[in-house]
Amino acid sequence: MSVLSSKLAVVPPIHQNVRVRRGPRSGVTMAIAVDRTLAGRALGGCRMWHYETAGDAIRDVERLARAMSFKAAAARLPVGGAKAVIALEHGDQPSGRWREQILRDFAELVECFDGRYITAQDVGTSLEDMVFLSRFTDHIAGHPIGDGGSGDPSPYTAHGVEVGIRASVRASLVGRHVVVVGLGHVGGELARRLHEAGARLTVTDADPAKRALAARLQATWVAPEEALAVQADVLAPCALGGILDHAAVRALQVPVVAGAANTQLADESIAEALRGRGILWAPDFIINAGGLIAVADELGGFDRERVERSIEGIADTLAQVYADAARNGTNTLIAAKQLARERLIEEA
Ligand code: NAD
Repeated sequence: MSVLSSKLAVVPPIHQNVRVRRGPRSGVTMAIAVDRTLAGRALGGCRMWHYETAGDAIRDVERLARAMSFKAAAARLPVGGAKAVIALEHGDQPSGRWREQILRDFAELVECFDGRYITAQDVGTSLEDMVFLSRFTDHIAGHPIGDGGSGDPSPYTAHGVEVGIRASVRASLVGRHVVVVGLGHVGGELARRLHEAGARLTVTDADPAKRALAARLQATWVAPEEALAVQADVLAPCALGGILDHAAVRALQVPVVAGAANTQLADESIAEALRGRGILWAPDFIINAGGLIAVADELGGFDRERVERSIEGIADTLAQVYADAARNGTNTLIAAKQLARERLIEEA
């Protein structure tokens, strides 16, 4: 056992610091979890999403904050992991004055952390929301490009996923057949990049309006329920999480799964099922780190070239995960978590 792996048994506990409040203006429940700070700071987006109960929201924010610690550590970012949720009672996204009241309440919660928590855009929040929040708190990353910020993180995430796909197929993308599930901010940009690189595309989205983009990219369109069974070189999940359960793994006709979606596995046993079928899975928190790399870079003064170089580094990180998994006879999720833990220890 190496010195490093013997130390893993004594990794200092990651310190959770969760604050929950019911916004005095909005009445909406919101929570911030700081999983771990590095140099006194932790970064993680603010998710505005529907939850059945406050308990569901708190469990989610803790789980997501922990995932951010792993993601930041694996990407060697000089910042710890955190997350925020604004728990909507109904599915509809708030707008106008109602949204502003929610965001003002949230800004106050951010301020309670005295800079230990830095917020950013996530599912359900936008660049415009960050601009509004910046009137009430300085602890924001992901400012508009015009203000010297990194702007929308999605193109960086898409770049990182392309890098990860190349590292996974270990060959040119020319003529490779890639199935992209979800043509949203990341999936749409990824599809454009893959098309430019000479890949052949099959695509799907729950929103039929995305067929127009498919046509522009000369991609074959399939229904969402058919996409997982398409015979291809790569499946790139870029929609919601939980897409890979045991039934989905049995249906897959690809040697590689590598995409942007967070929490792709319905549960951790799926990583072993994928390995059992000989399918190489790029752990989501490694391959989708491009957006976080860009946003975190703002903390030291945004430098696009430095960010692009760092995103290219996702290839080396994935290669190491694949090599560790092969050497140790484990699946890529176990290998990726081990690598993140080792990098956490190096930082500590
Ligand atoms: P988005 O909302 O812009 O796009 C998601 C797309 O998936 C939408 O077009 C939606 O219609 C489609 N979709 C939803 N359910 C579907 C289904 N069942 N089948 C097919 N399509 C479906 O989101 P995004 O910002 O592109 O993020 C995509 C994924 O990547 C999410 O899981 C997100 O958490 C993850 N991610 C995003 C970033 C980023 O920088 N935006 C960073 C890291 C991870």
